[in-house]
Amino acid sequence: LPNCSRRLWGVQDVKRTLPERDAHSHKGTHGKGLFVGGSLFMPGSVAMSARAALRSGAGLVAIATDEQAIPSVSPYVQEATFVELKEEGQAVSGYDAVAVGMGLGRRPYCGKVVKQLMQEVDGPLLIDADGLHLLKGSLDELERRSAPTVLTPHPGEFAHLTGLTAPEVLQSPFVYSREFAERYGAYIVLKGPSTIITAPDGEQRVDRSGNAGLAKGGSGDVLSGILISMIMQSNGLMDALSNGCVLHGYTAELLVEAGHSKVDLLASDVIEGLSRTFRTLS
Ligand code: AMP
Ligand code: MG
Repeated sequence: LPNCSRRLWGVQDVKRTLPERDAHSHKGTHGKGLFVGGSLFMPGSVAMSARAALRSGAGLVAIATDEQAIPSVSPYVQEATFVELKEEGQAVSGYDAVAVGMGLGRRPYCGKVVKQLMQEVDGPLLIDADGLHLLKGSLDELERRSAPTVLTPHPGEFAHLTGLTAPEVLQSPFVYSREFAERYGAYIVLKGPSTIITAPDGEQRVDRSGNAGLAKGGSGDVLSGILISMIMQSNGLMDALSNGCVLHGYTAELLVEAGHSKVDLLASDVIEGLSRTFRTLS
């Protein structure tokens, strides 16, 4: 394939490229992230993303969610601030990165929320889960964005976005990711036992970390939080995304080596397990 560079990204690469925490930093130095998602019947996802971001070093975290979801989300992320998710639009300025979609639901007005964020977020925007489902209706907005957009689909979500079937995606994941990334100018994190990270210029990296303990609801939400934190604290998007994927998978590996099994592991264990990962890496 022409212009095809693929590189395996592992723990040694994370050690080499993970930014050190500056002794003179303050909370603003480490980024202020906004998480848009969560709803009455899915309050956990956005809570886990936001908590994972804080556990990965983010300085400040705000959550935009349905008013009824705030009481169930806030005890799990006491460090976060809250804004009510509004149909007519969110205030999106003042954030270093924004993530949308985790537990957002697919109500018609949520599509407007995703569209508004694509138009107004002038820094990095990560779209996951229901956000990816809703994005299908505004792919032209994706193409128009000049700030970076990161999409984090699993093969089913990527199939929905592209109009392919999941088996087709899995047959040529490198080719389809690169086509989509180049066509829409987006970063694609195609998740799975092997995760493929693709830049808009076609550069691809592969993360083989993790284990089947991650094959459980909530894992993707945790990944989104780690990624937002890495995006806010790194210089390059590709390093941020690759490091985030490896931190997520490597944490699951460490947890299964000590204490947990692949059967009982919860996504929330991975959040708390980040503590050991960061101690091991620095
Ligand atoms: P989601 O499907 O959105 O919950 O995302 C699942 C997350 O867990 C992604 O980061 C996947 O890479 C990871 N994952 C799921 N299953 C496995 C597996 N069998 N081995 C390694 N990682 C996995
Ligand atoms: Mg998911």
